Amino acid sequence: MDHTILAIHAHPDDIEFLAAGTLAGLAREGHRVVLATMTAGDCGTVNQEADEIAKIRVQEAANSAALIKARYFYLGFRDMAVFSDHPSRQRLTEFLRAIRPTIVVTSSPEDYMADHEATALLVRDACFAAALPNYSTGESAAAMPLAEIPALYFMDPIGGVDRYGTEVVPHFVVDIEKTFDLKIAMLMEHKSQREWLRIRHGLENYVSNMQKWTRQRGALAGIRIGEGFRHYKGHPYPQDPRLESLVEKLLHRPLVRESEAFDPSLATPMISALADRSEMPTEQTKPVSRSRKRSYSFVRQVTRRIP
Ligand SMILES: [Zn+2]
Repeated sequence: MDHTILAIHAHPDDIEFLAAGTLAGLAREGHRVVLATMTAGDCGTVNQEADEIAKIRVQEAANSAALIKARYFYLGFRDMAVFSDHPSRQRLTEFLRAIRPTIVVTSSPEDYMADHEATALLVRDACFAAALPNYSTGESAAAMPLAEIPALYFMDPIGGVDRYGTEVVPHFVVDIEKTFDLKIAMLMEHKSQREWLRIRHGLENYVSNMQKWTRQRGALAGIRIGEGFRHYKGHPYPQDPRLESLVEKLLHRPLVRESEAFDPSLATPMISALADRSEMPTEQTKPVSRSRKRSYSFVRQVTRRIP
């Protein structure tokens, strides 16, 4: 089966940091890969106007996508203004129906900042809505509903931890050794972000931070470098290991560390204590347009600048 893999994250460079090695490998295998960012990264500067930096950053993201022959779309949101509300869900749903992915990879539902978390929620719900014939996106020339919900995967949160600093362990880690050079090249296209991080956050080592991160993910699974993913298992969503099977030869499961190995003897006292409690909780007894014409009024496909 031919697959279309759609990666959506909040800001330009998030995909490169978290999933570009895997996506580059899928593109190399001949799958259609589409990249999209919710925002244009318009707040990622200290010395340029929002519209000016937005223009630069969508072009950088398009240049990055072009390195793996992927299409890139900017979905028209502003930084710090991504919310899981009805108009945003309609916009995402229309985009999904236009692109028609079989696999969607998005941001982590628990992450360090609002845009990332809102993106995860919106994408999850748009995957569901895209396959509902009666869900209207409000577009005059709306794309057809999807025949089925696409398989949904989450990238790692930035830093690999949730809101409370607790480690988020991926379901599987993809070995990105063969596409690591491409991942670096893609990240290097985000020149303006490199500059912003240097000035605003004192981070001189944009690329080496990413390298350190991929080594950490690789170490989780006993390999040198990798990218982690989790498969969303909400019951109406596809349960088959769709992405896992596409990266089968590169797939590694996180190692169980000795300290985390489940020891049933440790659980027994807790189970017994619960069973002894007299107040143990008991079970409660008590018309959409079918036109294939796509308007794209809210998204902008950005192509690589011709030098
Ligand atoms: Zn981001």
